[in-house]
Amino acid sequence: RDEVNIISGALELRKKAVAEVMTKIEDAFMLDYEAILNFETVSEIMKSGYSRIPVFENDRKNIVTTLYIKDLAFVDPDDNTPLKTLSQFYQNPCNFVFEDVTLDVMFKDFKEGNKGHMAFVNRVNNEGEGDPFYETIGLITLEDVIEELIQAEIMDE
Ligand code: ADP
Repeated sequence: RDEVNIISGALELRKKAVAEVMTKIEDAFMLDYEAILNFETVSEIMKSGYSRIPVFENDRKNIVTTLYIKDLAFVDPDDNTPLKTLSQFYQNPCNFVFEDVTLDVMFKDFKEGNKGHMAFVNRVNNEGEGDPFYETIGLITLEDVIEELIQAEIMDE
């Protein structure tokens, strides 16, 4: 039964786009580039339980870097370190994919390590008067793709 599920899951990957399984940007736990890594902020990060936190500048749809929880290892909350300082030190790359990329392609990218294990989902916004621009509408991780593959929820510890 499990094998049948995985095989049909694998076949389904070609039919689904990242936008269908991503975590929406409104639901993401993120940090403002201007944030200060004081006791309150660090507590919130720990409470969120996520290992990667997108960092936005000005607008939540404008992601500029990713904070890894391990980057906080040498941060003392009493120092009130600006997140900006830490971000400039680590310069963690962020990876972007288009909303219509299919899950089989996404899976291959994750497997080959091209996209880390988290990617931000972009779309072109051409609704307003001005020129079209990219905006980030969600994030997707390897776990989201594997859940589709095995067609079951992965329980986080
Ligand atoms: P983690 O290692 O932080 O547990 P996973 O890669 O295991 O993250 O992803 C678990 C789920 O959480 C996925 O559905 C993913 O889209 C979502 N996720 C990951 N990071 C965040 C975040 N910062 N805010 C909201 N959801 C997130």
